Amino acid sequence: MDKAGLKAEGIQWDLSELYIGPDDPRLEADLAEARRQAEAFAQTYRGKSAGGQLDGPALARALAEYEALAELEYRPSFYASLLFAADTQNLKVQQLVHRTREAATEIANLLVFFALELIALEETQLAPLLTAPEMAEYRHYLEALRRFKPHTLGEKEEQILNQKRLTGSSAFEQLYQELTGSLRFRLTIDGEERELTDGEIMALLHHPDRGLRERAFTTFLETHANHSLVLTAVFNNILLDHKIDCELRHYDNFVMPTHLANEIAPETVEAMMQAVERHYPLAQEYFRLKARLLAVDKLKNTDLYAPIAAEAEELPFSQAQSLILTAFGRFNEQFAALAADFFRKRWIDAEVRGGKRGGAFCAALSPRYHPYVLCSYNGTSRDVSTVAHELGHGIHYSLARRQKFLNYDAPLVLAETASVFAEIVLTRHLLAETTNPAARRGLLCGLLEEIYGTVFRQTALTRFEMAAHRQRRSGQLSADEIAALWLQEQEKLFGTSVELIPAYRWGWTYISHFIHSRFYCYSYSFGELLTLALFQRYLDEGEAFVPGYLRLLESGGSQRPEHALAQLGIDINQPEFWHQGFRVIEGFLADLRQTL
Ligand SMILES: [Zn+2]
Repeated sequence: MDKAGLKAEGIQWDLSELYIGPDDPRLEADLAEARRQAEAFAQTYRGKSAGGQLDGPALARALAEYEALAELEYRPSFYASLLFAADTQNLKVQQLVHRTREAATEIANLLVFFALELIALEETQLAPLLTAPEMAEYRHYLEALRRFKPHTLGEKEEQILNQKRLTGSSAFEQLYQELTGSLRFRLTIDGEERELTDGEIMALLHHPDRGLRERAFTTFLETHANHSLVLTAVFNNILLDHKIDCELRHYDNFVMPTHLANEIAPETVEAMMQAVERHYPLAQEYFRLKARLLAVDKLKNTDLYAPIAAEAEELPFSQAQSLILTAFGRFNEQFAALAADFFRKRWIDAEVRGGKRGGAFCAALSPRYHPYVLCSYNGTSRDVSTVAHELGHGIHYSLARRQKFLNYDAPLVLAETASVFAEIVLTRHLLAETTNPAARRGLLCGLLEEIYGTVFRQTALTRFEMAAHRQRRSGQLSADEIAALWLQEQEKLFGTSVELIPAYRWGWTYISHFIHSRFYCYSYSFGELLTLALFQRYLDEGEAFVPGYLRLLESGGSQRPEHALAQLGIDINQPEFWHQGFRVIEGFLADLRQTL
């Protein structure tokens, strides 16, 4: 029998490269050392860059010290956040999260002056610094930093805002995570009352029994609704906090901080989102096809992910592993080898356990360390795709390890370039292996549902989030008002193709991005459409496409997305570019229609 079965039993990550446990004395030692180094750094450099006393080589040395310090300061809180994700109800770990975050804030405060001085430099002071050869790898970082120049406050104000964030937005984020992580869901299945985790109950949306799917999702949403007082307050305060931030920092467009961080023009994002909205009928066409496949008059939103074959095929984790590695290997050997490390070296935590946070992620500390993946594997084909997706992120991080710390993280809109690609590579491999029409139909539906969830749904989520931020400007929002905004965008997306279950008015309460990663959702749409277009090029160009694509991933965050893509001959400011992606979707829909 396979050791790692349908719940990925025993597939736990090994974090010992970071620390040996929450009591590891090196945690405190690192925080103390980071603090000592930060004080020394401040003594050495305060006033130097603003005063123009550093030449190019000296500034490059200062930046290298700053990177080393930032990594040291980040390691304890990074470790704590991984422990917390794997075991949200562990009191000791919760305390460690708070303690390391507080310490990191104190250290960050000692260092705030440095970025501020760099931002404050006059163009005439900056230009000669940027031309020094030693500064070559920091040029993009400095340029990116300085885009925030008109929105940056004085050192004292930035320090106060940092400190007050601990009891402000960070506290609400933590409350949200602890509350939603503590929820258990009571549901009667086959006459037996059971208590489920969020991962287990959401997995039931893929169950063949229509009634069970609806009861499960209703229970999930109503359990959130029982905490509507806290969830509504958290959301309102996150919105208000951002409103205040935008006023203090002179942003007239409240999405602008995200666009600046993403290094992308607001018009580019708006053009992409409008293109997606114009193509909502493609999603609706899929839902009508799916209603036919399920032999129902009209789809409910609890049917969106229903399996279309009577028996959902479940795979033990070990089998998922070998499928993924084979599929990746058919695309590129290096892709497969990088993914294999996660299994072989225990960089992945896939086991289903109570108290583990929901969803899946890949996290990376710095180029010196390898990335980690967390997910809850329930044996469904969707879970196999999720593992492939997160491993795509892992491959992206692994390839970017040649970058410096400050250039390591890909800009958000490129962050899904490997993950989504990896999912499509997996599905294509499975389609190639499958001649049975029913099985092909299942694979195409899985792929189209993934595309729906990423391209179409995430744009609707972003439109809702924008509407909520806009309306919060004129006062506190009630749960009913939030629900009205939520349903309005959902109805635009689904048109008349899908009936929404009544409890779905609470659908906004479980999207954690609204709380901890404001306006993150548009980058999913952006990244997926972009990747679909890239995939079309791979189909057209074959092997010749691969080296340029790998170079794009290796570039990490060292360039603006626009520039990185220009090297592949892509102009993201051309509206026609987005239509490439939709043509791929139309192709998959046509393939699906052929199986009917
Ligand atoms: Zn992702």
